[in-house]
Amino acid sequence: MLKKKLLNKISLSTPHMSGMEMKYIEEAFETNWIAPLGLNVDEFEKEFAHYVGMKGAVAVSSGTAAIHLALSILDVGKDDIVFCSSLTFIASANPILYQGAHPVFIDSEPESWNMSPNALEEAFKDAVHTGVLPKAVIIVNLYGQSAKMDELVSICQKYNVPIIEDAAESLGAMYQGKASGTFGDIGIYSFNGNKIITTSGGGMLVSHKPEILEKARFLATQAKDPAPHYQHSEIGYNYRMSNILAGVGRGQLEVLNHRISARRVIFQIYKQELADFEGIEFMPELVESLSTRWLTAITVNEKEANVTSRELLQALAENNIEARPVWKPLHMQPLFKQSKYYSNCKEGSVCERLFSTGICLPSSSNLTLKDQVRVIQCLKDRLK
Ligand SMILES: *Cc1c(COP(=O)(O)O)cnc(C)c1O
Repeated sequence: MLKKKLLNKISLSTPHMSGMEMKYIEEAFETNWIAPLGLNVDEFEKEFAHYVGMKGAVAVSSGTAAIHLALSILDVGKDDIVFCSSLTFIASANPILYQGAHPVFIDSEPESWNMSPNALEEAFKDAVHTGVLPKAVIIVNLYGQSAKMDELVSICQKYNVPIIEDAAESLGAMYQGKASGTFGDIGIYSFNGNKIITTSGGGMLVSHKPEILEKARFLATQAKDPAPHYQHSEIGYNYRMSNILAGVGRGQLEVLNHRISARRVIFQIYKQELADFEGIEFMPELVESLSTRWLTAITVNEKEANVTSRELLQALAENNIEARPVWKPLHMQPLFKQSKYYSNCKEGSVCERLFSTGICLPSSSNLTLKDQVRVIQCLKDRLK
């Protein structure tokens, strides 16, 4: 306890302001464009779309809201089926429930930790058998890394089912020369406080299709019909981003590339320092891709390392260092105990293994070398 009190807390992933945010916030104050929407929102959307190479973008109040809008736009409704990655944060799948639809969870493959094309194909084959295809597939890109999008896209195209790409954790990542989040019919991003850039809370929806972007704007602003007397024919939401927060986003977007480099350097240091320890492996990086290493994730082979992932987490916690297990797969969550799950055929359940052996290490872009050395020393002490 005493030790814990003496050491400053090292967090998993913290906000890292650029200093440019205030300029955009002040502009909003000076012009009284506090709300609704305004120049910062328009510019943030344009700058963001340009960054990821998309036609357009719609700034919203959270990544979860963006997923909810995406499902609405793709007409997912009561008792529809939606396929979704199992190894992810709950926010990827909650909007499926908002719509009264049912998720079917798909395992990961070991090379990217993201959705397994084998398991996806199996799920589709079964769906064809039962005569009920999913309305959409939500593909998640974890910890800064793209899924194997070429294989996943071609499977979904074969069955003619649209993709929602959850790139909440992979903003700035590349896959075969294109930005992560731009492979699906709709891509979503998050600017929650722990993400690679933050607006304190916020999200973005992108698409190549103007009609999808238009529909997203419409639904996110209470679905007002074009009439002066507030007429509504559909369910809408109040999901737009505030002009103040969009100002924060503009200041953050300017330094996104620096944040990516910083997180990749942090990963390199962990890798270099822990390379010689038996039983420790790092989340792989796909060839033809660039991971942002939003979080450095490792797996611990208990037999080789003589320690479990949970014991390592415990050691870090005792030193006031925040680390976390890899996401608990959604098919293992009490909330989804009724849901179907397809595991990666060849390897058994990959995401269950990643959950029990995986941990995420402190990876903030403003993590100091001194603090990172403390994390590494704590790991080394427990590993030898
Ligand atoms: C953070 C996150 C979200 C949700 O984003 P919010 O902006 O917090 O609503 C969705 N999916 C994944 C994988 C995330 O990590």
